Amino acid sequence: MAKGTGKPRKKIPRALAVVRADNCTGCEACIEVCPVDCIYKVPGEDQPHLQSFVDIDLERCIGCDLCERWCPWDAIDMVPPTQLVAAVADKGGPEPYLEKNGAQLIAVAQTIQDLAIEAQQAKK
Ligand code: SF4
Ligand code: SF4
Repeated sequence: MAKGTGKPRKKIPRALAVVRADNCTGCEACIEVCPVDCIYKVPGEDQPHLQSFVDIDLERCIGCDLCERWCPWDAIDMVPPTQLVAAVADKGGPEPYLEKNGAQLIAVAQTIQDLAIEAQQAKK
């Protein structure tokens, strides 16, 4: 899963990066440019049989959108945090990866989305 390096960000960004795994070739251009090192290659050592693609630790993404701009395959969407769960649920990718990680990825998205909606309501 996520590399877990670096510090969590302090504020939820206006948009977070979600990889459309079925469009991703695993070229690693996004990994090179991410300033907080929150993009990680899949398969990891635990799933070496899967096609190559990347995923993103949404708890650490700062929404800078560099990855989206550098991706040659248009495989990254910048998604408002209030719409994160649907985007993550629809991100695609190989079944074995989704079976193993899908629920956890959605749970993380749900936590961020709930916080973003709370913050939005607090401003009203
Ligand atoms: S938006 Fe920025 S911080 Fe987030 S994954 Fe992309 S490059 Fe990294
Ligand atoms: S730059 Fe795009 S195609 Fe390349 S690894 Fe990142 S998301 Fe995948």
